[in-house]
Amino acid sequence: MTPVNVIKVGGGEGIDYEVFCQDLANHEDYVLVHGGSARLNEVSTKLGHPPRFVTSVSGHQSRYTDRETLEIFNMIYAGYTNKMIVEHLQRLGVNAVGLSGLDGRLIEGDRKRALKIVENGRKQILRGDHSGIIRTVNANLLGLLLDNGYVPVLTPPAISTCGVAINVDGDRLAAQVAVALEADCLLLLSNVPGLLRDVEDEESLIDELSSTELDAHIESVAKGRMKKKLLGAKEALAGGVGRVVIGDARGASPVTHGLAEHGTSIR
Ligand code: ADP
Repeated sequence: MTPVNVIKVGGGEGIDYEVFCQDLANHEDYVLVHGGSARLNEVSTKLGHPPRFVTSVSGHQSRYTDRETLEIFNMIYAGYTNKMIVEHLQRLGVNAVGLSGLDGRLIEGDRKRALKIVENGRKQILRGDHSGIIRTVNANLLGLLLDNGYVPVLTPPAISTCGVAINVDGDRLAAQVAVALEADCLLLLSNVPGLLRDVEDEESLIDELSSTELDAHIESVAKGRMKKKLLGAKEALAGGVGRVVIGDARGASPVTHGLAEHGTSIR
């Protein structure tokens, strides 16, 4: 198989998917992974089922995904966002195929039966969650598509070993796909210029980081969801991916700039 890049575009506010796809269409040999969090928050609120974020005992923030949330999640990620991106790419002449992790058991994982969370300073067990940890990627299915000229456009949810849909983190999904495909580069594009020393100051970009510095930055510099990106970067590099770039999905040429290492470059 020809070497590929894995490109992940976030679901935060301020990303213009049409502009993003126009730049993406100038590139070849890649797999696209996308998010949809801002739209999910908006639609689930409109549907009378607002998002609930919980903090695990280890300090990580995540979305509590009960069955109803999972169903809205499917509508926004595998439905609205996935098909909107595939439509943009098809209009630009890119033969994109949209798949969730459920299709062909593309992304398989273990469901977490219960979440151990901290709320109002007290430890609690939260049941009924549909989220999990990725274990395997069906690289064979991705290979079939890539070898025949299709561009895979991937989204959570994944599938549990028991055949239940599970919400998995998009950055870590992209990292596992990059490992499975032995990708040259994992590009994580979001609505910030990269890893910032001060999240309020877009000028405070950390432009280079070595993999040995990742743990310290997960603890000290990265807040909230940025921690997951650094965790994804760590998993990708440990799994043999050549380099990871955390870059900006906004602006006219986000993919071209990202692959040219504008952003935070990690080796
Ligand atoms: P996406 O949905 O695009 O994957 P996320 O919203 O999950 O992106 O993560 C990006 C967010 O992480 C930024 O919008 C920012 O608010 C937050 N963040 C926290 N700490 C940092 C940091 N040190 N540098 C940059 N962004 C950070």
